[in-house]
Amino acid sequence: MKQTCAVIGSGIGGISSAIRLAKKGYEVTVFEQSPKAGGKISEIRLDAFRFDTGPSLFTLPELVDELFVLCGKNPRDYFNYVPLEASCKYFWPDGTHVTAWSDTHRFANELHEKTGVESSTTLRFLDKCRTLYDLTADVFMFNSFHRPANFLKPAYRRSLVNLHKLDAFTTMHRRNKKWFRHPKIVQLFDRYATYNGSSPYKTPATLNVIAHLEHNLGAWFPAKGMYDIVASLSKLAEEMKVEFRFNSKVEEIIFDDSPYTTSPRPSHNKRHKKWWPFDGGKKVTGLIVDGEILPYDLVVSDVDVAKLYKHLLPGETIPARQLKQERSSSALIFYWGIHNHFDKLGLHNILFADDYKKEFDHLFDTKSITPDPTIYIFISSKAVTTDAPKGAENWYVMINVPENTGQDWDALVKEARTNIIRKINRMFETDIEQHIVTEAMADPRSIEKDTASTNGSLYGLSSNGMFAAFNRHPNFKKKLKNLYFAGGSVHPGGGIPLCLASAKIVDQEITV
Ligand SMILES: Cc1cc2nc3c(=O)[nH]c(=O)nc-3n(C[C@H](O)[C@H](O)[C@H](O)COP(=O)(O)OP(=O)(O)OC[C@H]3O[C@@H](n4cnc5c(N)ncnc54)[C@H](O)[C@@H]3O)c2cc1C
Repeated sequence: MKQTCAVIGSGIGGISSAIRLAKKGYEVTVFEQSPKAGGKISEIRLDAFRFDTGPSLFTLPELVDELFVLCGKNPRDYFNYVPLEASCKYFWPDGTHVTAWSDTHRFANELHEKTGVESSTTLRFLDKCRTLYDLTADVFMFNSFHRPANFLKPAYRRSLVNLHKLDAFTTMHRRNKKWFRHPKIVQLFDRYATYNGSSPYKTPATLNVIAHLEHNLGAWFPAKGMYDIVASLSKLAEEMKVEFRFNSKVEEIIFDDSPYTTSPRPSHNKRHKKWWPFDGGKKVTGLIVDGEILPYDLVVSDVDVAKLYKHLLPGETIPARQLKQERSSSALIFYWGIHNHFDKLGLHNILFADDYKKEFDHLFDTKSITPDPTIYIFISSKAVTTDAPKGAENWYVMINVPENTGQDWDALVKEARTNIIRKINRMFETDIEQHIVTEAMADPRSIEKDTASTNGSLYGLSSNGMFAAFNRHPNFKKKLKNLYFAGGSVHPGGGIPLCLASAKIVDQEITV
């Protein structure tokens, strides 16, 4: 008989874990409390407009392809994506604008032309980011550093020997300021800290590795939009006989010491009971869903780990380190159907704040919103023309906001909307409100409600602080046997590539 596995949550970490375990020979069921798959990767349709509502930046597409290849399929039969000629267009309040061409030499020349920063300075910086990736990827991203045996691997030894090159003892902002001196270019590279919801003034310069993904390895976009990542992986999962149960909220994970296990127990519980508690752990025996006990040999959680401990693991307390670490930022997003074309704008656009430091002080210290936030405008219809009707564009207008700690969001959203519109009007000499034909919105409250993310944080814990990476929850715990942890709130962190990496680590850790 096949071993059974339950995956809780159909976020990218959950779906990819399900596919990997099905490939390993498990009979896999995914329980998802919402009516559809994807978690934070989602989409909405407003009139004739389609919007990706969560992630919009896509790097390391090979991690998605890998899942198809693993299952013996040709990824191109399921999922397609295109390289971007420019990863982003940057606009400053004084009228300066820079296009981040994907060709690094062209990008370096553009920076030189617009700011005077020598091309060689930019190219050397990007080389340094590449070195950071080469030294850290196998240590932090694709393996668990919670498994002592891993420290014997050559990648770990190489990382330790080159500790001084990891830039862990200074902040991203300090490193970038020292390197570029030009405030606009410092701001451009500092922004990568926000890719995992952190502050460049607090996060270690090691996180400059993120710039490597976008500039050296490349920025991509799925041919049918971001939600197609989920749609195509769901198709693969179904072909691998993974069963999805939507509108199914898991209430509790049960173990062989649970009082519930006195009710009809699967035979494997009795089998495992014999070694417990002598090795100091307890073993998963199943789940409670809709009041029903369902036996499983193995459980993978893709649930935000703070919520998991609070609601699904009674009697277990979340490790103190996870509570101490600052949470990542959240987002306020307006989805606007715009009846006009803005040729100046590309797929990804940034309208920078004048005072970047102030923006992050608001985000992480006063937990409020600066009156002049950096605005991100993502227009998927620039790449996927069917996402908006003819003559129109679908604008996803986002600012970073703090996690939800009970602020008066109605007031904050109203004020931010006014400030955003004022800034767009000023920078593009328009009256944008006149062109908005349909509108929806997301804020930390709705993100928390829709994806069960603690306080609406986008990436679980932030990377603020030198030891942040070590404070993330591991992908397994010795004392909770056969329970594995995937997704953005655990090691190695948030963002699509890291969630895919978390599933890969879980896969490595499970020996059938
Ligand atoms: C607005 C926004 C913008 C972002 N931008 C980017 C970007 O540009 N690029 C990028 O790479 N990343 C981005 N991210 C981050 C990225 O989306 C996440 O890191 C990633 O999608 C999280 O995946 P996950 O596996 O952690 O699961 P999640 O997406 O967090 O999903 C968890 C799932 O578990 C389900 N669940 C929770 N509790 C239960 C329960 N008890 N029973 C059953 N189901 C349950 C939830 O309903 C949810 O579907 C963004 C996120 C947001 C919200």
